[in-house]
Amino acid sequence: MAESAEQVHARVMAVADERGRLPLPSVAQWDVFPWEVVDGVLAAKPLAAPRPEEPREGAGGVDCGACADAGRGVIWANDRWRLRHLSERSGLPLVLILESAEHLDLPDLDDTLAAEYGVLAVRIARVVEDLPHVARCHVQRIGDGAEHLHIWFMARTADLPSIRGSFAVDWDDILPPGPEDVWRADLATVAQRLASYDGRAVARDA
Ligand SMILES: [Zn+2]
Repeated sequence: MAESAEQVHARVMAVADERGRLPLPSVAQWDVFPWEVVDGVLAAKPLAAPRPEEPREGAGGVDCGACADAGRGVIWANDRWRLRHLSERSGLPLVLILESAEHLDLPDLDDTLAAEYGVLAVRIARVVEDLPHVARCHVQRIGDGAEHLHIWFMARTADLPSIRGSFAVDWDDILPPGPEDVWRADLATVAQRLASYDGRAVARDA
């Protein structure tokens, strides 16, 4: 059972500074981070000049991390899809990634795989949102970092007003991870409920 808003808030406040703030996450240093402080005022960065797109990791199926380590963190799989967790726990209660078993990008899916993706996305969102204390499971495909299809499923805690909308992604980097036993129990629940529809739950080391 994911932590309640009160449990998350108490845990965060216990490690925050005297003003209740947590350290800035590393994303604040990224080139693509759009804000900066200018003369003490928060401002949007200037739009960088055009330049050619950088190659994505695994472009053309070469040196693809998802293909090379297909079993990493997998909690559920069928013959064409796998669902995995991140290599480390993060600030939101659950962050999952759905990958195609084959090296494909989203526009590469044929109609059969596209239809399966739609069904799976709904099932994953349903199962994650059924977890106690989870209000929403945000679903997003970005794909600017790696070519191999990977869809993000990001659960946010109910009743925490800061963590709403697209900024839940930033809070995932800001908040300290929750208890490992809670995380593993929720992973197992999601995997087992998905397997009740199709595929197989993959047991993870406790
Ligand atoms: Zn791949």
